[in-house]
Amino acid sequence: AKREGRNCWRFYSHDIEESLRTRMALQRSLQHAMETRAFDVYYQPKVDLLTGAIVGAEALVRWRRGDGVLVGPADFIAGTEESGLIVELGLFVLEEACRAAQLWQSCGAGISVAVNVSPRQLTEDTFAGRVSDILERTRLPAGLLQLEITEGTLVNQLEHHRTAMEWLKDHGVLIAIDDFGTGYSSLSYLKRFPIDVLKIDQHFVRNLLVDRSDRAIITAIVQMAQGLGLQLVAEGVEDAGQAETLAALGCRTAQGYFYGRPMPLPAFRQLLESRCP
Ligand code: C2E
Ligand code: CA
Ligand code: CA
Ligand code: CA
Repeated sequence: AKREGRNCWRFYSHDIEESLRTRMALQRSLQHAMETRAFDVYYQPKVDLLTGAIVGAEALVRWRRGDGVLVGPADFIAGTEESGLIVELGLFVLEEACRAAQLWQSCGAGISVAVNVSPRQLTEDTFAGRVSDILERTRLPAGLLQLEITEGTLVNQLEHHRTAMEWLKDHGVLIAIDDFGTGYSSLSYLKRFPIDVLKIDQHFVRNLLVDRSDRAIITAIVQMAQGLGLQLVAEGVEDAGQAETLAALGCRTAQGYFYGRPMPLPAFRQLLESRCP
């Protein structure tokens, strides 16, 4: 039994070592990707459900790996959070996105850009200052930048984030709650934080046409957003039925494959220009 135990332990330890090695290798690749500018920012349109106009885009990062494979953020964001590389990557995405959005203004003003922010970035004391530097450098009006933060992030380090968020808010940057409805059970933070936008999680949108509780939840979110004076964006809209239902329920803005997949900047500019007045 002793020997079995030892073998067992060895086997286990080997597994841990193996996974540690894999993680370290991933982190080295990501560091190298940062140094060789192998990250790309894609843009997914956000559309006004009543007019069909493009009102903004969400910036979504991709990793162009050495072997040519395009890797989605689900497979590497956690790795960059673990090593702290997300701070540098996040600023890169932010600057790219602001520079892009500044270009879009030539086709009718007011097209905004939304950028995802990790908790790790918000806890850097320099974050708000860096955002302000980037806005200055790119000359993007602060009101056209939305920072997307998940509910969990916000609530976990409440007081720490308040200072940065209030500073950003004072400077005109908009704050959006990402994946709304999935992260936290108490809504009281909506009152305590300077929030501008709620993004209804795609989970609620997916079965909107067949699931009565999803429909009820969205109806409640719409009413709450109206009462609190918050903008609403529905995520993950994949077909006309969902779009029509959302509009009928009073949701004004939508994002999803139905309107366009995340695309490289030139493709997004082309899409904008094809609709230029
Ligand atoms: P998210 O912020 O919730 O972004 C929405 C995700 O849903 C994106 O996945 C988008 O491509 C996908 N999506 C959009 N419309 C549809 C649809 O109609 N159907 C379906 N099934 N999916 C749709 P993506 O690009 O793979 O990003 C995954 C997550 O990675 C994001 O979720 C976000 O949390 C994170 N992420 C992406 N870019 C960044 C970044 O620059 N910084 C940080 N910190 N996180 C990022
Ligand atoms: Ca997001
Ligand atoms: Ca989301
Ligand atoms: Ca998400």
